[in-house]
Amino acid sequence: MSEQARWIDWEPDKVTSHFGVDPAKGLNEKEVDERLKQVGLNQLTEGEKASYFAVFIAQFKDFMVWVLLIATLISALLGEYTDAIAIIAIVILNAILGFIQEVRAERSLSALKKLSAPTARVLRNGKWERVDAAKLVPGDIVVLESGDRVPADLRFLKTENLYIEESALTGESVPVQKRSEALAKADVPLGDRKNMGYMGTMVVRGTGLGVVVSTGMATEMGRIAHLIESTEEMETPLQRRLEQLGKVLVVVALMLTALVVVTGILHGHDVYKMFLAGVSLAVAAIPEGLPAIVTIALALGVQRMIKKRAIVRKLPSVETLGCASVICSDKTGTLTQNKMTVTHLWVDGKRVQVSGSGYAPYGNFSWQGKEIQPFSSQAFRRLLEIAVLCNNAQLSCNTVKEGLLKRKQEEWRIDGDPTEGALLVVGAKGGLLASEVTGEWTRVKEYPFDSDRKMMSVIVKHRNGKQFLYTKGAPDILLSRCSHILHDGKITPLTPTLRAEILKQIEELALMALRNLAFAFREVRPGEKVERSSTVEQGLTFVGLAGMMDPPREEVKEAIRVCRRAGIKTVMITGDHQTTAEAIAIELGIKQPHGLTINGNDLYTMSDEELQQKINQIDVFARVSPEHKLKIVKALQKQGHVVAMTGDGVNDAPAIKAADIGIAMGVTGTDVSKESSSLILADDNFATIVAAVEEGRNIYDNIRKFISYLLASNVGEILVMFLAMLGGFPLPLVPIQILWVNLVTDGLPAMALGVDPAEEDTMTRPPRDSRESVFARRVGWKIVTRGLLIGFCSLMAFWITYSENPDNLVLAQTVAFATLVMSQLIYVFDCRTTGSIFSRTPFDNKLLILAVLSSVLLLLAVIYYPPLQPIFHTVPLGIREWILICVTSILPVNIAGLLDLLRPVRKLIHG
Ligand code: ATP
Repeated sequence: MSEQARWIDWEPDKVTSHFGVDPAKGLNEKEVDERLKQVGLNQLTEGEKASYFAVFIAQFKDFMVWVLLIATLISALLGEYTDAIAIIAIVILNAILGFIQEVRAERSLSALKKLSAPTARVLRNGKWERVDAAKLVPGDIVVLESGDRVPADLRFLKTENLYIEESALTGESVPVQKRSEALAKADVPLGDRKNMGYMGTMVVRGTGLGVVVSTGMATEMGRIAHLIESTEEMETPLQRRLEQLGKVLVVVALMLTALVVVTGILHGHDVYKMFLAGVSLAVAAIPEGLPAIVTIALALGVQRMIKKRAIVRKLPSVETLGCASVICSDKTGTLTQNKMTVTHLWVDGKRVQVSGSGYAPYGNFSWQGKEIQPFSSQAFRRLLEIAVLCNNAQLSCNTVKEGLLKRKQEEWRIDGDPTEGALLVVGAKGGLLASEVTGEWTRVKEYPFDSDRKMMSVIVKHRNGKQFLYTKGAPDILLSRCSHILHDGKITPLTPTLRAEILKQIEELALMALRNLAFAFREVRPGEKVERSSTVEQGLTFVGLAGMMDPPREEVKEAIRVCRRAGIKTVMITGDHQTTAEAIAIELGIKQPHGLTINGNDLYTMSDEELQQKINQIDVFARVSPEHKLKIVKALQKQGHVVAMTGDGVNDAPAIKAADIGIAMGVTGTDVSKESSSLILADDNFATIVAAVEEGRNIYDNIRKFISYLLASNVGEILVMFLAMLGGFPLPLVPIQILWVNLVTDGLPAMALGVDPAEEDTMTRPPRDSRESVFARRVGWKIVTRGLLIGFCSLMAFWITYSENPDNLVLAQTVAFATLVMSQLIYVFDCRTTGSIFSRTPFDNKLLILAVLSSVLLLLAVIYYPPLQPIFHTVPLGIREWILICVTSILPVNIAGLLDLLRPVRKLIHG
């Protein structure tokens, strides 16, 4: 029998006493610390990670680097020691740079993984708290609810309609109902251990209380951990495309280099020198830094997103974010504050106003301007009773000292669902405190709320022995389950007139943008079967309505405006009533004058084709169930949209997965929704999505910027050599200079481009087409034209100097080298915009300025610091040379810039 199987035929109290824990109090801190020391963290140990040394060595796994090293070895054997040492030094420096880039990228990625780590609700020291699931120890008392991932192996102590999907362990996808009683036999297969919950499996329905029996590698999941491979996708489509592009570039660079070498040799250059120059050129021309810089740009962008409270779970979504053309957002909590206050009740035929705001339970009830007492009416009292008893939230008060005088202030807070919190508050305002009511009543059974049923019920037993079903839920849905109404102290049949009156009231409350809830009850006869909610929640007596205010988040209105300017449509998808949803959508600017609102029932009857035809005009989906969300995502995608979709519940997971960018709620979201998502909002806020989209667009732009920079620089480098060989000139650059240029350009300036701030038009242009090539929108054009101009101008500087000083080749080479470097350092500013270099101030990227200045300093050191001169084959330059260098290095962007300036004129001519 396995270690685990021991608990199965024990009664719950035997298990808890075995673990030395009181199930009403949980463990205390000292016990937790001791156990943590004993058994370690509740984590599955990850597979072997590549060591730093291995990462460093991997930098040398490039074929061309090996050719270069062998070439260097040959030159060392031929006695050219300085060259050999310098080349090796540069190769090592390059490897260090690559190593730093890779380690940084890796670190940022693992930091991301930690951020989205699961948590668990655990009872410690008599208090429920949410802790990092890794900190659980055997003996901890944990509560689970629908959507939770089971955080460790548990033995259940209490369950309520609890179903767990265990396919991760057993392969069986039908959820298993769990219970807490001991089984007759302990030695049963995993799938039959009905009173156990296993780490990594998923709660699909109901609630459960359990004691942790094993953690980490001791769990069933731990035993098979080595079989589970992380399927997390961490490479973006762009990275994959760049990898392919990289391969093409290698071939092109090698062919061009071969051409340079052959042309050089045909023109009478020394074979050995040409070979070394060719290899250096190949090393320089192959953009080996590209993948690492892309990863860094992504990772740094992701860090910036975290600061804006958007946590990226899957790297590819960073790229997709920039293409998002529709954001489908939940209403409650994302567009609104999720701070509910009941402002109106409708009971006994009266619309009653409730005063007071927030969670402080102070306020009174008035009707037609006069205060009324809730206990004067039977229905009123019953409504508050249902509100308080059919409720899982907790209202508590802390006193804090505030201000200079340190006055005592009360701070009321809610634990649990804010909708239910608001109901506790209204109950307390009416004098019904949950703590007092629960003394009179005991809860027998609960039918939990879920977004499909849109209601919740409890069976409660009064001290006098009578049992009732208390239900609250979406009014239109609850009304269909009611046959009677409690009015003037009597239960009377619900006539069509009364029904119409209730519907009118619901509509009126919804028009005030209030979120509505209805309350109903019925007596439960002794011995009645109460297993299934669908049969129990029938034939109810209607009691009344509550309308609660949930103000929109302030920043959302602006965020929606930004979206519109950026060509992104915002769609509200809510479980709430159509009129309430519309009222809020209008207030926020989501609903357009010609926009449509569709509700869940329409969606049921609509065919996929019909929905696709209409979908572009729909702004609001109301009273929808989570399953509709998938239909909506698919219809939008069929219309060519890139869809971002939010969700929080367990049933939202399929839609989140299907969306191009699945977004989960950090605060209210279930583990399952988080695991299916690619982005988590740490603050559940819609505005955070918009900030992430902006960052996504910026990251992609930055990647394009340094691709444009690196490739144009490489084109320039190859071209200067190629044209020189073609024209029968001497070598304009020596190998070490080529390698130096490569090191400097691939290094700091390229990295600084990766953190370039967003351009002004980032959120005023339409979303990018997801199939668009990285070279689109002038990047390809820039690479070719700027590359050609850089190469040509550097050669021009070389040729002018050489023809003036035919016996001083080193001087001409130094000039060519400096021109090449300077023109690249000027071009880097041109890369920052899709417009002309003059359209953006160079001073808003301090890092870039610093990178360019340090590169210039390095260049000056190589030219003027005597010990470096023989290594880099340079000589000091005079003012005449510098004038030439400045003019020729400014020329490329100027010529190109002039062409750009002519564009409006060209447009004018072409109409
Ligand atoms: P969104 O989907 O935008 O977050 P929502 O929170 O209103 O909107 P649901 O949580 O699915 O969507 O709720 C749908 C309806 O169910 C609500 O309009 C309300 O009438 C009812 N409802 C919400 N919470 C509860 C609850 N705890 N108990 C009973 N009924 C509830």
